[in-house]
Amino acid sequence: MMRYADRPWLKHFTEEQLEDVENPPSVLHSFLEAAERAPARPALRYFDGTVSYGELDALSDGLARRLADRGFAPGDRLAVMLQNVPQFVIALLAAWKAGGAVVPVNPMYKEGELAHILADAGATAIVCSERAWHDYVRATAALSPVRIALTASELDLQTRDDPRVLTAGRRPADDAEDVLTAARAAAGPRPDVALPRSGDTALISYTSGTSGRPKGAINTHGNISFNAHRQVRVQDFPADAVVFALAPLFHITGLVCELAAALSAGHTVALAYRFEPGVVLDAFREHRPVYTVGPSTAFMALLARPDATAEDFASFQLISSGGAPLPPAVVEAFRIRSGGLYLANGYGLTECTAPCASVPPGREAPVDPESGTLAVGVPGPGTMIRILDDKGAEVPFGESGEIAVSGPMVVPGYWNKPEESAAALPGGELLTGDIGFMDEDGWLYVVDRKKDMISASGFKVWPREVEDVLYTHPAVREAAVVGVPDSYRGESVKAYVSLRPGASAEPAELIAYCKERLAAYKYPREVEMLVELPKTATGKILRRELKTSAG
Ligand code: AMP
Repeated sequence: MMRYADRPWLKHFTEEQLEDVENPPSVLHSFLEAAERAPARPALRYFDGTVSYGELDALSDGLARRLADRGFAPGDRLAVMLQNVPQFVIALLAAWKAGGAVVPVNPMYKEGELAHILADAGATAIVCSERAWHDYVRATAALSPVRIALTASELDLQTRDDPRVLTAGRRPADDAEDVLTAARAAAGPRPDVALPRSGDTALISYTSGTSGRPKGAINTHGNISFNAHRQVRVQDFPADAVVFALAPLFHITGLVCELAAALSAGHTVALAYRFEPGVVLDAFREHRPVYTVGPSTAFMALLARPDATAEDFASFQLISSGGAPLPPAVVEAFRIRSGGLYLANGYGLTECTAPCASVPPGREAPVDPESGTLAVGVPGPGTMIRILDDKGAEVPFGESGEIAVSGPMVVPGYWNKPEESAAALPGGELLTGDIGFMDEDGWLYVVDRKKDMISASGFKVWPREVEDVLYTHPAVREAAVVGVPDSYRGESVKAYVSLRPGASAEPAELIAYCKERLAAYKYPREVEMLVELPKTATGKILRRELKTSAG
């Protein structure tokens, strides 16, 4: 009988792609080499502004010096709470040059969430937007370990104040230093600190995981460089490639797949503050990127734009969807609208430093004929994925169980959480909390989150399967399915749906549509229409929130 250790997925790669780089240099090392090789090459584009590799190197040297002068020592943590602006990148490189780690913080977090992260990570420095500093970060930071406060304006490093995204205006603070002013004032070589080694902490990435308060996953420099270098080798983009940062840099997918990979290859990263479909399409037209990655919901939003044309996507060599389920119907709709582009699924978690499975170059992921689920890809070389039952034993290929991942991209643990680390990472293997199965060719299918299973009259219903059917209905833009309490069945299936602009459909019609296509216990008994489904800042539809409001 074939076992997971036989790694059937390797047959999808060429021999060259299988040759893994042993101990790839850290992304900071590769960035420094790229800056030395071609200092004039654009590292960042931000609306109409450009920051070259040489400038980015000098600015991050200056900020690293300033941080060090103000007492930021190797091993210290800098919280970076910014949208996709150049100062995010300057701060990240500066913290690494000063020997520290970065704690990316979602700028949409409220006081309580920020206070928890600053205290838990023991962050002694923070950089946030001017607006956030005045609104609540000043007060929150005052009660935290933070001693160094820096602010950034989204109006800097470009001249076009686009009213659709840049509404804040300039509001410098007396008690927080501007990032760029600090970087320029302290110009000179970077602090005399050793460059990071593979096991050093690069990021502490807060993730809610399956339950409880957010925990800080420790992404080491080795974790990041493994995934970044692999991606660069497999993608093989031209030297002057532009990558568009669709996913936010404060999330691991944006940080690794867009930024770290591009900076280690000497590519250009185009930033556009935050996701706004019209602005994103303009950026595609202006910067002509070869690659981007984002959650499936971002592509659904782009597809809903009547002005999106195939020409807008003509520069792309690859577009990946990751971080959230990708319904097969969206792949096909995207292919038609983009003039033939294949939207490549990819699967990963914060705890595996972004992807651990993706669609190999030149392939298309199969759809499981029974459930209609699109495969998320195959594990990359150097990666081990097993499917386990409740007792931790491997289940046969084709059978569902918990997805377990090991490899050089899996984090060593959670910050200051030995018990949670031991439970989630027994022997270093990550128990993902996702249910999935693998076919005999090594294609991985994610069925759902373990905790989102609905038990209707004792039958298991995976919300994803029902959502995938809803997505095939021409009027449906977004769908989320949850279990709601039902006195007869225990739980029954409820769907929340948002419609495409201009489309119409009644709940009864959608219920009948699903009833025709799904087993009797699976089709939704209730459909509720919403204008927009609640989502996380990274584009995942918040089933949990819908379930709470329903229950
Ligand atoms: P995060 O740590 O925020 O990146 O979230 C990771 C979770 O996103 C995983 O545990 C999955 O539940 C989900 N996820 C990521 N990629 C996919 C995908 N391609 N299909 C389905 N779910 C996904």
